[in-house]
Amino acid sequence: MTLEPVAIGERICEGCGKPVLRNLAIYDRIFYHVYCLKRTKGRPDYYCLECSAYWSRGRLTKILLDEGASTEWFCPACGSGDLRSLRPRSTSWEW
Ligand SMILES: [Zn+2]
Ligand SMILES: [Zn+2]
Repeated sequence: MTLEPVAIGERICEGCGKPVLRNLAIYDRIFYHVYCLKRTKGRPDYYCLECSAYWSRGRLTKILLDEGASTEWFCPACGSGDLRSLRPRSTSWEW
């Protein structure tokens, strides 16, 4: 995990404004409680299996392969390509 270290008391949840002591979810480098993220309008597209961060598609590091024929996405925090899509194809959002 290569996110910059943040003191516990400075992790303020974007959803409820309280410090995040447990159930931390990081979405596009913004801190949330897991349950606060779920009830916000934020809809992460990907979840990094390596550093447990949530990302919208536009935030991921995009690498073009074969002269643009295919695309690989990487976590901008840890560089892992081990991303799980949270929205395969349906419009419903599964956790
Ligand atoms: Zn919260
Ligand atoms: Zn990661």
